[in-house]
Amino acid sequence: MQASIITLAFAAALLLSLGAKFWLATRQMRHVAAHSHEVPAAFAGAVTLQSHRRAAEYTLAKGRFGLLATAFGTLVLLGWTLLGGLDALNHALRGAVQPRLGDMAYQLTLLAAFTLIGALLELPLELYSTFRIEQRFGFNRITPRLFAIDLLKNTVVGALVGLPLAALVLWLMGVAGGLWWLWAWGAWMAFNLALLVLYPTVIAPWFNKFEPLADADLAARVQSLMKRCGFAAKGLFVMDGSRRSAHANAYFTGLGAAKRVVFFDTLLQRLTPSEVEAVLAHELGHFKHRHVHKRIAGIFGISLLALALLGWLSTQAGFYTGLGVLPNLGAPNDALALLLFMLALPPFGFFVSPLLAQLSRRHEFEADAFACAQASGGDLAKALVKLHEDNAATLTPDPVYVRFYYSHPPASERLAALAQYAR
Ligand SMILES: [Zn+2]
Repeated sequence: MQASIITLAFAAALLLSLGAKFWLATRQMRHVAAHSHEVPAAFAGAVTLQSHRRAAEYTLAKGRFGLLATAFGTLVLLGWTLLGGLDALNHALRGAVQPRLGDMAYQLTLLAAFTLIGALLELPLELYSTFRIEQRFGFNRITPRLFAIDLLKNTVVGALVGLPLAALVLWLMGVAGGLWWLWAWGAWMAFNLALLVLYPTVIAPWFNKFEPLADADLAARVQSLMKRCGFAAKGLFVMDGSRRSAHANAYFTGLGAAKRVVFFDTLLQRLTPSEVEAVLAHELGHFKHRHVHKRIAGIFGISLLALALLGWLSTQAGFYTGLGVLPNLGAPNDALALLLFMLALPPFGFFVSPLLAQLSRRHEFEADAFACAQASGGDLAKALVKLHEDNAATLTPDPVYVRFYYSHPPASERLAALAQYAR
């Protein structure tokens, strides 16, 4: 594979995805601004003009920031690749580490240094988003101190989880021959399954408190619903999301015995017991329809394709030089190949993302239909409107933007579908 073809394909994907992102973001901002003066008919009475305007302002603020972050991310990506950043880092670390500590230490140092530099570059954006935008709209609850502690904990978790996995994959790349990517796929899958069990039981509790539901009336309702749906009652937790943000949410996660539904405390404060029951029924719908399993199967398939592609690309000198890196002569190129692949893939992956978003939206409709059968669709609709209002989520998104990005259908579509299921 010629270097010039790689450079051209990468540059084309980058430009196209960048153009599409800007086009979509400006569409969304224009659409939201144009519809900000009147509450849509379906929500009249349920949402005040004031909160409708607030949602529009929040969407616009995030949209403007998103444009800036996209431009910055593109510069960083170009800096690493075509402008020679990764090549320079590799050159410096290889000279300093490889002669003394060997191939594996050099490669792990390269991966770690790249990750740390990337995180440092992202940090100002994260600070601005948290302490400016979220703060301005009254969502931020995190203190600078907790922010710093989180940063430290994330680094520790990243090192504890990431370094052994990276070492295993690098080792496989070195010893398993031409089909290393198949072995690496197996390792990656085992890692993902382990994470599905470890994340809810070990990692998440390090960041938040998870407690069983205390409210007796609510607990009774919830237990009877879970029993009806054939779900173990111990799988329900309340999380102190209010420590970091006022945004309210609920999610389902995990596999087997680690399977659980998590409610943010912020959500319980805002919803009535029957609304909580309806939201829980929706989350249980995800389990009943095996959405976790389907998602894992999807990740398995995509990873296999991606690793097979990397298996081939990593043997092509043009893959390295075409992306701005001179391959090593007296040291393995495996860490470089992994990094370049991670850098170069997203601009191409961007064009697949609408498919995944669509699948996710379909799952949301299925979970809503299940909730309607097991609890009250009217309560779910009320809860959805409250959550949109509290999170300042726009009720009038641009339809094209929705197709591309939205993992959940817009409120208007969900409410219309709920009214239909009820009939
Ligand atoms: Zn859902």
